[in-house]
Amino acid sequence: MLKVLNPATEELVATVPAASAQDVDAAVVRATTAQAKWASAAPGDRARLLRRFAVVVDEHLEELAQLEVREAGHVIGNARWEAGNVRDLLDFAAGGVERLNGRQIPVPGGLNVTILEPLGVVGVIAPWNFPMPIAAWGTAPALAAGNAVILKPAETTPITALRLAELALEAGLPEGLFQVLPGAGDVAGNALVEHPGVAKIVFTGSTRVGQQIMAKCADRVKRLTLELGGKSPNIVFADADVEAAALATPMSYLDNSGQDCCARTRILVQRSVYDRFLEIVRPAVESVVVGDPSDEKTQMGPLISRSQLERVRSYVPSGTGIHGTAPEGPGFWFPPTLLTDVDPTSPVATEEVFGPVAVVLPFDDEADAIRLANATEYGLSGSIWTRDVGRALRVSGAVRAGNLSVNSHSSVRYWTPFGGYKQSGLGRELGPDALAAFTETKNVFISTESTEA
Ligand code: NAD
Repeated sequence: MLKVLNPATEELVATVPAASAQDVDAAVVRATTAQAKWASAAPGDRARLLRRFAVVVDEHLEELAQLEVREAGHVIGNARWEAGNVRDLLDFAAGGVERLNGRQIPVPGGLNVTILEPLGVVGVIAPWNFPMPIAAWGTAPALAAGNAVILKPAETTPITALRLAELALEAGLPEGLFQVLPGAGDVAGNALVEHPGVAKIVFTGSTRVGQQIMAKCADRVKRLTLELGGKSPNIVFADADVEAAALATPMSYLDNSGQDCCARTRILVQRSVYDRFLEIVRPAVESVVVGDPSDEKTQMGPLISRSQLERVRSYVPSGTGIHGTAPEGPGFWFPPTLLTDVDPTSPVATEEVFGPVAVVLPFDDEADAIRLANATEYGLSGSIWTRDVGRALRVSGAVRAGNLSVNSHSSVRYWTPFGGYKQSGLGRELGPDALAAFTETKNVFISTESTEA
């Protein structure tokens, strides 16, 4: 049994049966049958059903958001956005079903076409930090491209995923096409990874587990997308609007209590504006509203679990840095924290803390900023604050990361591709090519040579 706790109160929200390896076997059988029918249905009908699924999600948006507040401690505004993101992803993917075009390639002696065929059954393994959106990043395009999906949510956050599976049936999606199997990573997750009937794994989670899954997929040359950790830089040049950059800084790493793979946790500030930046950022961090996530005014909620709280604590030397406030008592609370005078090679400056903790490091010039930004095994996101267009383009070109934003902190938009360089991942999700990642390209050549004597 999985125990789901409300991270803001530590109250039991639900107990959910954990799937076994045999449950995964049975789910794969059901998914295989459902997928064959789904793939042969008219594209227009598949698109219509996915659009209906989006409408049903929209009708249950508030319910889904409230569930996310209870099981994950997300602040209500974010949770509503997350449920809306599932709706949007389904709509966007539905639009692709009838546009999943192959190509006609000019060759001598005949006609050559490519066909994008579905892979079959796709396993989506999701983390707890954004349970709904990340589940939908994999699920929506996979279904749209003609696949069946088995989703394994994280142990701590299975509730919204289970509700989405019910809503899919309510919308008319065939039984077995989209199944949710909550369970332990090393049991249900591992069974999906090892199952010969699962054609592709979409994994979002820690780099450590991603490496293990990649090694296992190698045994079968199983298709794989990995969305892993991050330690993203936020680079503030002296020629930027320093006030705007400083004021945007707190929520660039405190959103979702810092449990965000794109959190800008290494704040690199040019030395000539370093003191001014800190003067502005200090009160901004101290005044972030931390508390009851169901209150509309709250900006930051709790961490997901006690073990995550202990992990975050272990990174922060006591009595150092700038701190906001956090509630006392039950719940997994840690205050917004900004550390200065940190050794750039120390664990808190190099490892993914996955909590409301960032470091500020000074740099001298553009080359120094690029060197520091790239001094990490990760390469997921990053921000560049400057008024110099040439510099924005030069630095965007030089930072080895998949998702950069200039004078803002945007990372994830369903219209645009998302994924990591280096140990932040493999492959891309979202964007115009999202469906293609769930297909095999088949090439067919049809001879036009005459067979008449
Ligand atoms: P995690 O790696 O512990 O678990 C992620 C999922 O994998 C869970 O569902 C878990 O049950 C499952 N799992 C664990 N061991 C497994 C195994 N041996 N085989 C198969 N499945 C297994 O990660 P987490 O702590 O849930 O999530 C936090 C991590 O996710 C952070 O590192 C964060 O950066 C990363 N993340 C990355 C992105 C991205 O898009 N790059 C987005 C969100 C989170």
